[in-house]
Amino acid sequence: MINKNSAKILIVDDDPTQIQVVISHLQHFDYELFIAKNSADTCKVLAKQHIDLVLLDINLPDGNGIDLCREIRSNHEFSDNLSIVFMTSHHSNEQEAKGLSIGANDYIYKPVNADVLAARINVQLQQLRKTKLLSHYANVDALTELGNRRAFDNQLQLELKRGEREGVPVSLLTLDIDFFKAYNDNYGHPQGDTCLRDVAAAIKSECRRPSDFAFRVGGEEFSIILYNTPASGALLFAEKLRAALIDRAIPHEYSEVSNLVTMSIGISDTLSGSYNIVELIASADDMLYKAKQSGRNNAMSNDWLAAI
Ligand code: GH3
Ligand code: MG
Ligand code: MG
Repeated sequence: MINKNSAKILIVDDDPTQIQVVISHLQHFDYELFIAKNSADTCKVLAKQHIDLVLLDINLPDGNGIDLCREIRSNHEFSDNLSIVFMTSHHSNEQEAKGLSIGANDYIYKPVNADVLAARINVQLQQLRKTKLLSHYANVDALTELGNRRAFDNQLQLELKRGEREGVPVSLLTLDIDFFKAYNDNYGHPQGDTCLRDVAAAIKSECRRPSDFAFRVGGEEFSIILYNTPASGALLFAEKLRAALIDRAIPHEYSEVSNLVTMSIGISDTLSGSYNIVELIASADDMLYKAKQSGRNNAMSNDWLAAI
């Protein structure tokens, strides 16, 4: 979530005088300011910093701002949470319409007026805050704070594309709590919710790498994406996760396989399967079904070698 006073603003201009003017207008605010004098430097700063807003001069020495804006918007890594405001000295309706159509959020005309600049930045940052809040609610499961089904679908699509491009395996784990209906029916729905939070906490604590992604995809079903991990590694991960849940020792008197809450896990990877999202999910579901059939409280993989 961005805090207005700690927002990061990148000023892109090849004219040092213009940069000084903008800095002097903004110095009374607690914004963190960054400077780039050309397109190449802009991309470098954006890759390193979580910039909230770019003040972008339209005429740059190594290309024009319109092209740079288009390039920024096509880079999905940071583009969604970024506001782009063009600065220009030439008023042209045609250019303004074009800029807005390719992803700019606003225009400011030079000579830049201090009050107008502050007000326009404020509007953009407020809008950004709302967008981030909306995106949080759209993608995060309220009960467990894990990503939800929508976030899972998007992330898996992204990781499969990345894996195929970089030639590395991706594993998918589908997890389901054993005899959870009996848990809910006997302990009550509120305690069922607490149990779901505890299971989510166990999952979070095991997802240690930045490339491990966990989601709650349904009632008592969870999914984990492990990037750059074959099924053999995913199976080891699954066993550690099952052990971590048993370590939490959540009593379940009504389970037929244990006196504690346990889970069954299905695993598929892109080496034994494919980079096709539908096939990978179907395969992990299939393995989960087999894990349930063979007694529950276990993990099954689509790579039979990994299980040896
Ligand atoms: P299995 O061992 O085969 O997985 O059986 P199960 O009882 O776990 O599976 P089933 O699909 O029959 O039941 C899932 C139960 O999960 C049904 C419902 O009571 C419970 N459930 C689903 N969503 C929620 C939720 O948000 N909160 C709570 N407390 N319970 C939920
Ligand atoms: Mg289920
Ligand atoms: Mg279940």
